[in-house]
Amino acid sequence: MPKSNARQINLTMAKKTHDIIRKAWENTTEDIKLSSWVLDIILQAIEKDKWLKNYASHLSFVGIDKNGILLRDRHLKDSIVEIKLLDNRLWCQICREKNCMHVYYTMARPELASLQDPEQPHKTTRRSRRT
Ligand SMILES: [Zn+2]
Repeated sequence: MPKSNARQINLTMAKKTHDIIRKAWENTTEDIKLSSWVLDIILQAIEKDKWLKNYASHLSFVGIDKNGILLRDRHLKDSIVEIKLLDNRLWCQICREKNCMHVYYTMARPELASLQDPEQPHKTTRRSRRT
């Protein structure tokens, strides 16, 4: 009998989380099992994080405030850089532009989905529903 190189983990999650994942999977056009699809997403997230650490090692995520993402930039003497969502575009408060390394880094962060444009109608997000 050949030895399997596969390992198994079982995940327990809230029904609400499961429903969100399942719905997203059902909306994909890929012909792939749910467990494989979830595993691919996790592996892609790990690869993306590794890439960000190499490509933008001087930047790090600090947190989120009401309508902005806060980053630390070691190239700017550890300054805190705030990226805001204005007129449906990301805007760097330090560089005063929408096409800088800080904006690109923010676009790769999952916290991006929590931002709300103060000029746009209020949209409820997962994060804001918890509070
Ligand atoms: Zn910037």
